[in-house]
Parts: sequence; structure tokens; C-alpha cells
Amino acid sequence: MARITLKSLAHSYFPQPVGPEDYAIREMEHVWEQGGAYALLGPSGCGKSTLLNIISGLLTPSEGQVLFDDRVMNELPPEERNIAQVFQFPVVYDTMTVFDNLAFPLRNVGTAEVEVHERVAEVADTLDLTALLKRKARNLSADEKQKVSMGRGLVRNDVSAILFDEPLTVIDPQLKWKLRRKLKEIHERFNITMIYVTHDQLEASTFADQIAVMYEGQVVQFGTPRELFEAPAHTFVGYFIGSPGMNFVEVAQSGSGARAGSVDLVLPSALERAIKQAHSSNLKLGIRPEFVELLSRPTADAYPIEIDNVQELGTYRIVSFLFAGVLFRARLEEDQPVPQRKAHVRFPEAWLGLYIDDFRVEVGQ
Ligand code: ADP
Ligand code: MG
Repeated sequence: MARITLKSLAHSYFPQPVGPEDYAIREMEHVWEQGGAYALLGPSGCGKSTLLNIISGLLTPSEGQVLFDDRVMNELPPEERNIAQVFQFPVVYDTMTVFDNLAFPLRNVGTAEVEVHERVAEVADTLDLTALLKRKARNLSADEKQKVSMGRGLVRNDVSAILFDEPLTVIDPQLKWKLRRKLKEIHERFNITMIYVTHDQLEASTFADQIAVMYEGQVVQFGTPRELFEAPAHTFVGYFIGSPGMNFVEVAQSGSGARAGSVDLVLPSALERAIKQAHSSNLKLGIRPEFVELLSRPTADAYPIEIDNVQELGTYRIVSFLFAGVLFRARLEEDQPVPQRKAHVRFPEAWLGLYIDDFRVEVGQ
């Protein structure tokens, strides 16, 4: 068991990388604490598999270090890292029985046969594989093979960490839900560090206590599902998490205040100051649809708008309108009134974030 530290880590698949685009992992620091249930969430191609393979040792990073506790692992081959990895597609020995497949990782490290039988029985039971133990793996369905693959990852409870790389892709939705629960149970029982890669935010937040959101080769935010929702650290997290995603509008300094397009903004003075002092002109204000307030009457800090569209979604509605030329959305619960065509919008300051070069900046009072 170990804490996993990624130190000034970067990786390029090219021998002579030139710019940041040549890097699958752009220089990053990260710590996975021992015993955590983590998700690594991000769109296809952002570097999730590359990062897992660097941790497990299948890939040697071109820059930086991987440490388990205080020990540098870069030169150590996968079999000496004591890590279990489960891939997107099943990795099983077709000619072996399910039992022997599950026993393989244990026998590999010289586990006594008595214990092998105990552990295999336990994992088979957890994954509903008991009835299949005597079958040859080649006769299994894709679902069953993937469960065997997962079982091989879970059978040793003395590993430093278990890495899952989108393991439920080939599993049908019904079973997916059940397996995710099982993983969580196993995590709670054995307190093994688990890193679970997915591109699905729901899957990430049901499995993990903390989520690392990855974008263009970097972890742009590491936090609880609630932190990602309430204070996205990067505009990408704002777009990617939540449904619909966060509203953003470009802003600029104007006189003593700030503007968005042709709209003069009424902002708290700390926010105005931060906009004025910014060293970049790439400034955005962001607010989640859940926190946007629609009013039928004006107030000092509300802006006139025209409702464009109301989408009924059962227990809530998505109301869209143009704000400073940008399409904004408000999410209203079914009991909240929807103003008529002409309305006013208010952005409560507690939920309004300032983003400079796409990263959120904390603004004092
Ligand atoms: P993810 O798992 O998030 O979909 P990957 O880690 O597979 O992302 O890929 C990250 C980037 O590295 C992508 O641009 C991908 O095309 C590139 N890449 C992945 N594997 C290789 C490889 N073996 N050789 C060259 N480029 C690769
Ligand atoms: Mg991948």
C-alpha cells in the first residue's frame, strides 16, 4: 500500500517534442493518497490511459518522477510495482478455466493454494462468477470475460493500488450499476487505493470520493463532486460537469467597472478590482444554470433580458436567453415561477466566478 506522487511529470510519445501539443501529459504535480477511491475523469484523448500506464509502469515517462511513498519507481518494471490494472477490454487466458484465470495473479506471487482457493471463491462470489469457475474462458460472453478481467484485478488485496481504465465499457448498463457498487464495497472493505478512469461524470461521482478532472494532458481540478460543481477551477470543468454546463461570458474592464459586450455590469468591488488588475485580457465570468435567478421585476443588480426558450424536463425546466450576446441557461425547479417573455436576470455574487486564462481566481471581499 502506498501514496502515489507524480512529480513534475510529463510525457510525449514523440522523441523530440517541440510545443505543448506534442505532449500527451503536460507537466503536472499530483498526489493520490493511500486508500482513496479516486476517479480520473476527462474526454477521450486527454491522456487518462497514458497517465495510468505511467503509474503501472507499462510506460516510462519522458520527464519527471513517479513515487510510491518516498521511493522513485521510474526504473521499476510493472511486475515489481505491485499494482493491479484492469483495462477497457478483457485480458484473460482463453485456454485456462475461470478459476485458473482468477488464481493467476495470486499464484504468480507464490500464494499458498489454500489461500488461493479462499480468495478466488470470495472474488467469484462478489462478481457472480461462482457458477462459471470450471468453464474455459474462451467460452464466455464479452460481459463475463470482462468480469473475469476485473476479478483478476481484485483478487490480491495486498497490492499498492488498483487502476481501472474504463472497465465497464463493454458491460451492459444494468450490470454496470451493480459492478460499480461492488467496486465501492471492495474499496470500503480493503482500503486499497483505487483510481477509476472514465469519461462519464455520473460514473465518476458514484464511485469516487474525489475526482481528478483531466483536460489536454493535465489535471485541471482535483476535488469532491460538490467542489467541482460549486467552484469549477477551470472553464473546462464548468462545461464538462453539470447538465447543462456552466454559463460563461467574456468580460473587460471599462472605466471604473466592467462590461460584458455592451452591458455595463454591476459587480461587487472586489470582483471589479480583480478584473482591473488582471494581467490577461482573457477574462470570463461564469455561473451555473442552477444559480441564475430570473425575476419578473427589475432590481438594482439585475439585467433586462428576453426569454428565448423554455424546455420542460419533468421535475425541472431549462430557460434560455441571450445575455450580452451569449446564450445563457437557467435551471428552474418545477415549483419556481417562469417569468414571461420580458424578464430580468440576477447573478448572485456567491456563485459568480472569475476566470483568467480559463482558470478560476479566488476574489476576496
Ligand atoms: P485517453 O485515455 O484520455 O483517451 P490517451 O492517454 O489514450 O487518452 O491519449 C492521449 C494522447 O496521446 C492522444 O492524443 C493520443 O492520440 C496520444 N497517444 C496515445 N497513445 C499513443 C501512442 N502509443 N503513440 C502515440 N500517441 C499516442
Ligand atoms: Mg483511454
